[in-house]
Amino acid sequence: MHSSAVKLFDIGVNLTSSQFDKDRAALVESAARVGVENIVITSTNVKETQNAIELLAEFPNLYATAGCHPHDAKEFLPEHIDFLQRVYQQNSRVVAIGECGLDYNRDFSPRDIQRLVFVQQLQLAEQLHAPLFLHQRDAHADFVQLLQQHISDFSKTVVHCFTGEAQELQTYIEMGCYIGITGWVCDERRGQHLLPLLANIPADRLLIETDAPYLIPRHIQKKNKSRRNQPSYLVDICEFIAQQLGISFAQLASQTRQNSLRFFQINNNYK
Ligand SMILES: [Zn+2]
Repeated sequence: MHSSAVKLFDIGVNLTSSQFDKDRAALVESAARVGVENIVITSTNVKETQNAIELLAEFPNLYATAGCHPHDAKEFLPEHIDFLQRVYQQNSRVVAIGECGLDYNRDFSPRDIQRLVFVQQLQLAEQLHAPLFLHQRDAHADFVQLLQQHISDFSKTVVHCFTGEAQELQTYIEMGCYIGITGWVCDERRGQHLLPLLANIPADRLLIETDAPYLIPRHIQKKNKSRRNQPSYLVDICEFIAQQLGISFAQLASQTRQNSLRFFQINNNYK
């Protein structure tokens, strides 16, 4: 067990998911008990953004993003940009635009629509000087090109749930992006290639996340026979990454928490 004096910051939890409807408050509380004090709720469309903002009223240590995931891009209307702008400006705990980006892996929205909706959100973030919570799968070249066209300061971007190859990582690091690492890295079947890459991420650019309820770390899934991930498992992910990097759990927890506070522009609990 770790001392709960060590505080962790989970940059990505899909807390509005119906998978949490029965025990959401209990899970946030159990995460806090093991040190996961702060969580950013990931929003993936306009309705989820609204739901996330409602959850903020209930949980004082939580934050949220406002945005549209590439899967949902086909439902995104021009006036939704004004909605995202309004909620970002009016809520001190809405701390980033996103999750937005490109996903050519599943293509749930047509690619031209994905690009259009992504660019609209890049332009909004640029205009607001807002941090960006970014998603990319199998779309690296288009993704980098659009970022370079529309974003002037990459220290305001995090490529969340990075699962790519060495060259992609190198590009993001050279651009100056933050990198989000999930429990994907704990999976000996599909996360192996990430292990030697972890050390390439500058210590001040690494962020950690569960992406719950998805991506339960494989060693936990084997133990408890549940497929549902939860924010308290950030402790296990942090432990695993710290071991790989050869640093202490407390050091990695503290470093990634400081990085999160800086990235999301959170000072004294408010941006
Ligand atoms: Zn994502």
